[in-house]
Amino acid sequence: MEEINLYSDTQTLPTEEMRKAMYEAEVGDELSGEDVTVINLEEKAAAMLGKEAAVYVTSGTQGNLVAILSHCSKADEILVGSESHIFWNENASVSTIVGAQLRLIQNQSDGSLDVNQLKESIRPLSSPQFPYTKLICLENTHNRCNGAAISLEHTNEVATIAHNNDIKLHIDGARIFNASVALGIEASELVENADSITFCLSKGLSCPVGSVLCGTKDFIDEARRWRRMLGGGMRQAGIIAAAGIVGLNQMVDRLAIDHSTAKSLAYKLSEIPGITIDPDTIQSNIVIFEIDPNISAAREVVNGLKAKGVKVSTYGSIIPNGGQYIRMVTHRHIGEEDVDSAAMALSEVMQSLHAA
Ligand SMILES: *Cc1c(COP(=O)(O)O)cnc(C)c1O
Repeated sequence: MEEINLYSDTQTLPTEEMRKAMYEAEVGDELSGEDVTVINLEEKAAAMLGKEAAVYVTSGTQGNLVAILSHCSKADEILVGSESHIFWNENASVSTIVGAQLRLIQNQSDGSLDVNQLKESIRPLSSPQFPYTKLICLENTHNRCNGAAISLEHTNEVATIAHNNDIKLHIDGARIFNASVALGIEASELVENADSITFCLSKGLSCPVGSVLCGTKDFIDEARRWRRMLGGGMRQAGIIAAAGIVGLNQMVDRLAIDHSTAKSLAYKLSEIPGITIDPDTIQSNIVIFEIDPNISAAREVVNGLKAKGVKVSTYGSIIPNGGQYIRMVTHRHIGEEDVDSAAMALSEVMQSLHAA
């Protein structure tokens, strides 16, 4: 039985071209600025995101943390979405390592921030009791909000609010190229008014390792110091960076395929009794749907799918209603026939749980 892996786009394997580029990569001591392949990757990434400079980091989590360390100090306050990866999935790094505090701004179902709440949450400088509001973070695409692509208008509106108040804007763009492809807007335009952006090579772009943080030259110089402190300084990292260059050259445009398989998956799921999903809301490669709690807990559905060779994960919801949610993510190894089989398997699992 061939497994259908809808668990995450992080589980994509490197392509033949990547393995070949990795084998042939010219390398040196990265930390000393002597690895030309890493330098090429960083220059290419900076150019694609329209920023002056970039630094190769080990993961998206490290990229976000290095960005926050570079923008903020101890006792500052950072405004992030209530459903953001930085808040949910990064081990409280901002409180433990930065020594700053996160303040949550309600994410709307389209992944945008509640702009009124955002404005009201910026601290006045008048009180010695208040932390300084130093940074706003946006997430694009938004993982927990069904892979929503954040619009250029919203990004620019948030950037204007930030900059009018002498606050920086960081974009957690783990899947920024999915957003770019979904919206039909160049990534560089989408992040033009952001002060920094992190994106992942290791997700839909199929690379084995790595993320890139982009910003101004001064900011990236500072980021390199923090990356070193976190143990992210590397040596002959051109071996892995070579795959990143292939990813940026060859894997961006094809993300449109993942979006179209996700869309057809969502339509098929919407026809299954006991499943709630609005396929029209699916913009990229992430499909989150609700299970009728009268039929089953999400965990049991996940186990039932596993027995049929379909790997997925349970998922929290942006509506804190205790609902039972499952996430499916499409990527390079998923075709239309896999989507058909997965929907069929889910339909059978739901029927047998309903009968039980
Ligand atoms: C995956 C992800 C990250 C972190 O990436 P890792 O490489 O897993 O550390 C950050 N933000 C979002 C939105 C993500 O989906």
